[in-house]
Amino acid sequence: MADSQHEWLKEYIRDIPDFPKEGVIFKDITPLLAHKKAFSYTIDAIAHHFDRDEIDLVLGIEARGFIVAAPLAYRFTAGLIPVRKKGKLPFTVESQRYQLEYGYDHLEMHRDAITEGERILIVDDVLATGGTARATAELTERCGGKVAGIATIMELAFLNGREKLAGYEFFSLISY
Ligand code: AMP
Repeated sequence: MADSQHEWLKEYIRDIPDFPKEGVIFKDITPLLAHKKAFSYTIDAIAHHFDRDEIDLVLGIEARGFIVAAPLAYRFTAGLIPVRKKGKLPFTVESQRYQLEYGYDHLEMHRDAITEGERILIVDDVLATGGTARATAELTERCGGKVAGIATIMELAFLNGREKLAGYEFFSLISY
C-alpha cells in the first residue's frame, strides 16, 4: 500500500475528467511539478525507498516518466535510459509489444542501453492497469538488466496494476 504520510501530495494532483477521451479521469501532475516542495519531496521519497539498493540506471517511460527519472538518476549517480513509443529512438532498438485497451502498441529501448547484470529502477508517473510497467520490466530483462524496482508517483489501485507486477518490488507514493 502507498504510505499515508505522502497523502498531502494529492492536493497537487489535478483530475481532468474525460481526457484524453470520455470516461477517463486523467491525473495531471503539472501542479505537483510546479510546486517546489511537492516535486522535490516526491523525488526524495522515491529515492529514500530505494536508498539501500545499488541502482546503476534509472529508466524513464515516455513521456512523464522522463521528468521523474532524470532527478532520480542524478540523485543515485546513475545513468538514465529513455523508453519510448515505437519509431522514436534513432539507434537499433529492442522492442516489446504490450496490450492497450483496444489493440497493441510497442515500447522501445536502445539495444546497447544496458550492460548485462546492471540494476535498473523503472519509473513513471502513474500505474494504471500495469501493462506499460510490466512490458518495460520484460524489455529490461531481455536487454540483460536486473529490475531493482518499479516506482510511480501514484497508482490507480482499483485497476489492480500491482497484480501484473507480482515478483517485482513496486513502490508508489499515493494511491487512488
Ligand atoms: P497502464 O499501462 O494502464 O498502467 O498505463 C500507464 C501509463 O499510461 C503511464 O505512462 C501513465 O502516464 C498513463 N496513464 C494511464 N492512465 C492514466 C491516467 N488516468 N492519468 C494519467 N496518466 C495515465
